[in-house]
Amino acid sequence: MPQVKTKVEKYNNDLKGVISYNNKEYAIDNLIVGEEVELDISKDQSRVNLKKVLKESSNRVKPECGIYNKCGGCSLLHIKYQEQLNIKTAFVENLFFETFNKYYKVNDCLGMKEPWHYRNKNQIVFKNVKGGKSRIASGFYEVSSHNLVEFETCKVQDELSDKIVGIIKELMIKMRYNAFDEDRGTGLIRHVLIKRSASTKEVMVVIVTGSEIFPGCQNFVKALTSRCKDITTIIQNVNNRKTSAVLGDKEKVLYGKGFITDILLGKKFKISAKSFYQINSSQCEVLYTKALELANLSKTDILFDAYSGVGTIGLIASDKVNKVISVELVKDAVSDAIQNAKMNNIKNVHFFCDDASNFMKNMAVKKEKVDVLIMDPPRKGSDERFLNAAIKLSPKKIVYISCDPRTQVIDLKHLLSNGYQITAIQPVDMFPHTSHIENIVCLIRK
Ligand code: SAH
Repeated sequence: MPQVKTKVEKYNNDLKGVISYNNKEYAIDNLIVGEEVELDISKDQSRVNLKKVLKESSNRVKPECGIYNKCGGCSLLHIKYQEQLNIKTAFVENLFFETFNKYYKVNDCLGMKEPWHYRNKNQIVFKNVKGGKSRIASGFYEVSSHNLVEFETCKVQDELSDKIVGIIKELMIKMRYNAFDEDRGTGLIRHVLIKRSASTKEVMVVIVTGSEIFPGCQNFVKALTSRCKDITTIIQNVNNRKTSAVLGDKEKVLYGKGFITDILLGKKFKISAKSFYQINSSQCEVLYTKALELANLSKTDILFDAYSGVGTIGLIASDKVNKVISVELVKDAVSDAIQNAKMNNIKNVHFFCDDASNFMKNMAVKKEKVDVLIMDPPRKGSDERFLNAAIKLSPKKIVYISCDPRTQVIDLKHLLSNGYQITAIQPVDMFPHTSHIENIVCLIRK
């Protein structure tokens, strides 16, 4: 194998370090731009293997995690947090420059003061370990596989969740519950999903079982709630399908009211086991605050909240505007949104369950009035039907929130060639230590 000494030149889309050799680029985990490295490159140049980092970057830190690179959740733990933010800002700046062939100022990515234990939702899988003293192992599935990566604590998960998982494992042994075996379809507990609100301190534990039968479940619930007084609700979810999805359709509330409540910017939101909810509540407040600041709403405005999930953005904005129209595809999310409006005594938000593009097109046909559009589509972005209808409706302002700036710029291209111009670009770090970037873009009609 030829050995090569070279320098890391740039980051790829997943923020891996990129080096070039013989006019070919290779992306490698765990590297920082500017670092000098020694690599083994296979004869046919198809594989590269990092031998060592010869000169480390001053931004390098020792990853504080025993399973880094195995679990695949985090990919930037080897980089100082402030530098992670700089890299994300530069990534967006570069992406906009390459797409539009024009320099746009990108505001500094807004990070967390304490970028640890931020996840309000944690999913754990269990496995029986045989041989010697049998025990139960818990952890995540390795990246794109079904091999378990075992861990006791995780730097980005909620700390109480890790403790609850430990208690559940002890109870599983005591009560002779086996972990569910995917291949054989035997055993009881398949996953545990824990959701916790940092603001209300409510905790939901979802026990995912491989079948409906849960022997001794009342004793289990009693033991678990007496060992952990913070748990406010326990749900059994049945997942008997051969699938990589964690949750099945069937649900049974074993303890408490079956959901928890979170508070975002002074409004209450119901979190159920299945519905989508932003996983980093404190940064979600930063994201929404910035998006609404950019929207600069006024009391007479009609606000359109597209891809609205459980209604969070529209409900938070409701007292700043005349009326909000929210549209979301998933039925359960819309019914949660309606309950959220009731819980907060909000009456000027109107929820519709529909494909955002269909709905938008119908609005355009009817020539309805929209002053401000806030759109927050899933990773794949929006589509031409939606954007064309938005252009027809012609709101004076569009605030586009995206969890993938690469699809966002494709949609922006369309808006820019149809009468809109960008006035602000603001990345927000919703997922510290991972390569994910959330980005807000504000546009006005020319
Ligand atoms: N704005 C919300 C949700 C953003 S996630 C929040 O901040 O929490 C994107 C949402 O778009 C999801 O709720 C998803 O169900 C919804 N969605 C996906 N495709 C859609 C479509 N074609 N039409 C409407 N909503 C859609």
